[in-house]
Amino acid sequence: MLNLISRPFFKTAMSLLSSTVLGVLMIVMLWGGIAAKYIDNRAADDLSARRDLRNFTLLFEENVLRSIGEMDKALLYLRRMIETTKGPLDFPAFVGTSDVLSDLIVQVAIIDDRGIMRASNVGPQPAPATDLSDREHFRFHVGRTTDELFISKPLIGRASGKWSVQLTRRFLKADKTFGGVVVASFNPEHFAKFYGRIDLGFAAAFAVVGTDGIVRATGGSSASNVALGDNLSGSALMARLATERSAVFVDAGLTADDSQLVAARKVGGHPLLVSVRVMEKLIYEESWANLKLMICAGFVLSLMIGAATWLARKAELEVQRNARALQLTLEHMGQGIMMVMPDLSIPVMNQKCVELLDLPSSFAANPPRFDALINFQEQRGEFADANLPEHISPLEFYGPTNVSGQFDLYERLRPSGMVLEVRSAKLADGGFVRTFLDITRRRQAQTQVTRLASEDVLTGLANRRVFSEALDMHAALLAEPANEQVSSFAILCLDLDRFKVVNDTQGHAIGDKLLQAVARRMQQSLRSTDLVARLGGDEFAVLLTHANREPTADIVAERLVETLSRPYDIDGHQILIGASIGIAMGPADGGSSNDLMIAADLALYAAKAAGRGTYRFFAEEMNEEIKGRQKIETDLREAVANEALELYYQPIINLATNTVSGFEALARWTHPTLGPIPPDKFIPIAEDSGLILPLGEWALREACRQAALWPSEIKIAVNLSPLQFANTGLATMVERILRETGLSPQRLELEITEGLLMRNTESTITILHRLREIGLRIAMDDFGTGYSSLSYLQSFPFDRIKVDRSFVSQLSTTTTAATVVRAVVEIAASRGMETTAEGVETEDQRQQLAALGCDQAQGYLLGRPVPIAQVAGVIAKWSMAERQAA
Ligand code: C2E
Ligand code: CA
Ligand code: CA
Repeated sequence: MLNLISRPFFKTAMSLLSSTVLGVLMIVMLWGGIAAKYIDNRAADDLSARRDLRNFTLLFEENVLRSIGEMDKALLYLRRMIETTKGPLDFPAFVGTSDVLSDLIVQVAIIDDRGIMRASNVGPQPAPATDLSDREHFRFHVGRTTDELFISKPLIGRASGKWSVQLTRRFLKADKTFGGVVVASFNPEHFAKFYGRIDLGFAAAFAVVGTDGIVRATGGSSASNVALGDNLSGSALMARLATERSAVFVDAGLTADDSQLVAARKVGGHPLLVSVRVMEKLIYEESWANLKLMICAGFVLSLMIGAATWLARKAELEVQRNARALQLTLEHMGQGIMMVMPDLSIPVMNQKCVELLDLPSSFAANPPRFDALINFQEQRGEFADANLPEHISPLEFYGPTNVSGQFDLYERLRPSGMVLEVRSAKLADGGFVRTFLDITRRRQAQTQVTRLASEDVLTGLANRRVFSEALDMHAALLAEPANEQVSSFAILCLDLDRFKVVNDTQGHAIGDKLLQAVARRMQQSLRSTDLVARLGGDEFAVLLTHANREPTADIVAERLVETLSRPYDIDGHQILIGASIGIAMGPADGGSSNDLMIAADLALYAAKAAGRGTYRFFAEEMNEEIKGRQKIETDLREAVANEALELYYQPIINLATNTVSGFEALARWTHPTLGPIPPDKFIPIAEDSGLILPLGEWALREACRQAALWPSEIKIAVNLSPLQFANTGLATMVERILRETGLSPQRLELEITEGLLMRNTESTITILHRLREIGLRIAMDDFGTGYSSLSYLQSFPFDRIKVDRSFVSQLSTTTTAATVVRAVVEIAASRGMETTAEGVETEDQRQQLAALGCDQAQGYLLGRPVPIAQVAGVIAKWSMAERQAA
């Protein structure tokens, strides 16, 4: 559907594949390289070892030849001395001559033709005539016709007691007959020295072996398994050299570990061969070490490649996820979205956009150019009602050239009645992104809210605000001389008698239906030009325009009392109530709506005082009441200035733990002459006079100051008047007080009423959020007494809901109350809010509330508001109760 998205998506999948494969390939290549290198190294090592060994045998042969030649020279010299001597032979003199001695020769001896040793330069002198006729080096020459050098097998010398190898040659007597042999012995260890001079780089073992297979000399590494005197006939070595002059081969040992590389060579002119062996594993030691190094490096590299591949893969997955998420987002977002490029092409247009604009479905897969789109819409009559400025085309108006002046955000009513919110954001390259949101329902809701705001939800009558506005308008009209025809008007304040009893005994539902019936009867008995309003509870008001005191207001009042007193049939219940009415006449009884309302109210009190079921007109004497109120205001001003008020603290109990979770601070005022005045009376006066600001600040400071001294788990709740929100400095003030008193913000809870949110302005919500940022909590007080309480819960994330005591008091009488409380608890819980029930007066209520899941409770049952001096006692009492319970 979204080409733009799916193409890269495919590419991503491809590159995902290739990157993984690439990573694996690199690792395989790396290890292949390492293996190849190792094999190569091994081959090179093998080659160079063979070459070295071969060279070594050459050297060795050379050395053997030279050593033997040297010894042979001594023998030949000795023989010459014997053969050239005329007369008697002095054998010991011959062997004693230094001429024949060398490093190599450890012994020279002469054996006569019978095999008796006649002289030796080693051992006791003169050498004992030892019989050596059985020795091979003697017997070899007996009867032989040729002159040959004999090299014996290694033997333990009888005279020296050491290993030695004898080299012998015959000598002839003057008559050319066999005269005996001259002997030169050498120590086979001689070659060890030789070996020490040659460095092969690895431990090699050498041997000098006779063609008979007997080892004549060994040396070098002890790893050699060839020992002096061993017979090697039948061995691989002898087999190879049977036919060849030299050979290099692998002599497989008993185990793979001791296989040896052997180089051997016949010694020219002698029945000898030399061999050099080296343990194969030593040859490869370096390549093995190299391999290990390469393996280490290989591992590191593999890890790095692996990591890089993993990262690449991760990034690609991310891209893939993002692409998919973006695609999903675009396809499933509630908004239509299109992206317009500077060239007016539209690369992105989601399904929702097509739906919202009612475009052909093919547009999603294949969006037209933006100008074509506008054209299409225009021809369809999309902009018929748009009221575009003259000489401005839809393309100019809605397009990137932005002549509309409302490019960023505007609402558009589609011919279908749909309201679209259109947002556009310019892109750096000159294109733009435009989103469409269907706000039809929001607009409808707003209309509804506006209606609700002026309407009493229960009865559909006007509400208090509308009524007082209408009143203000009338009062203002009267002030204008031109409107003399509006001679006078009447305000009727109406209160139902015994309504509260009905509500308490028959339940809210019946009470509500009764109020609706009352509203209907009132409307039926009045002209449509008269304004009927419900001010709250069972209080109604009527504005009679063009009314005289008599007969109009008189008659209307009488008729209303009569009509409303007739029996009602509500759900089969016969209900009898009455009505009392107070009447104020405008403009005579007051110049403002407030004055007139007060006048009507005072008249109502008078009617009630007169026994109910009747009406009264306002009379001047009733103004004494107002005067009293004015006096109270003056005295309250003084009391606030002198901080003569007091705070009482009512415990709030956690229903689960049965402990005090905090206190609510409640203002108390004892008037010097009138005695205690309840807050329900002086708080409204304070609000009317603006005194609520200093009073509220004092109450907050005092409450925080005291609470800071309490155990830290005990919180403090302070009431805020909506009027305190009129000042944007509220949050700053709260912050300052917290700093001054040192109370942790987490311990402070501010209670506000729905009334605040009914005048809901943006600044109120802003202040509430700022307060929350400070770290304190916000409670919705008196929940349930207002008009549409639930909707206010949506406007701000409260921390707590305080269920009004009117619900709590009905818990035992109606099931509706329990249903409402349960609903509130559930809603609160689902939004992470806590609930506190107010006005808990009976054990039954407490138990019901606990069962309903209420978190906290407050009420006379649990504790009346007490002066500060008693707070510690209350805390102690509850913690004791908890200990006892535990
Ligand atoms: P509220 O905030 O709803 O405070 C609770 C009221 O219910 C208090 O009345 C309290 O004494 C009363 N009450 C507590 N338990 C029970 C009970 O079991 N049964 C009954 N029938 N009543 C109970 P109070 O102290 O007369 O205060 C009345 C109202 O005055 C408060 O209602 C609050 O809206 C306002 N008010 C009190 N102090 C202040 C204050 O410092 N500032 C502001 N702005 N308003 C305050
Ligand atoms: Ca409160
Ligand atoms: Ca309350």
